Amino acid sequence: MLTNIEHIGIAVKNRHDAESLYAKLLDRLPYKQEAVASEKVITSFFKINDTKIELLQATEEDSAIAKFIEKRGEGIHHIAFETDDIEAEIMRLVKDGFELLKGFPKQGADNKMVAFLHPKSTSGVLVELCMEIKKQN
Ligand code: ZN
Repeated sequence: MLTNIEHIGIAVKNRHDAESLYAKLLDRLPYKQEAVASEKVITSFFKINDTKIELLQATEEDSAIAKFIEKRGEGIHHIAFETDDIEAEIMRLVKDGFELLKGFPKQGADNKMVAFLHPKSTSGVLVELCMEIKKQN
């Protein structure tokens, strides 16, 4: 089941400029920065109640974020829905005709398992599914 909008991902050219801008806009500081080597991005997170804003800056030219900005400019890159069971949601959605991006699910930023639905199957919006990775005891 999808439980809430976990975050909105925004592609930015310069994380420091975007952080300053969003700090002003949201009237708070980012609470975390995190590099995701596998995605060639560095991220900054702001929190507004249960929803986060994730700023994404490419760390390499062949990063998906760099390509996105080259094609479409800065802006909303994806919407992430939280789920309590990512495998079950993927099965449900693929069965319903949504296209899963290759190589997912895998570990993403913010201690989460993530998967993406191809925008051509979701009216042009890159949709992320994410599920918190429970700490092993
Ligand atoms: Zn995301």
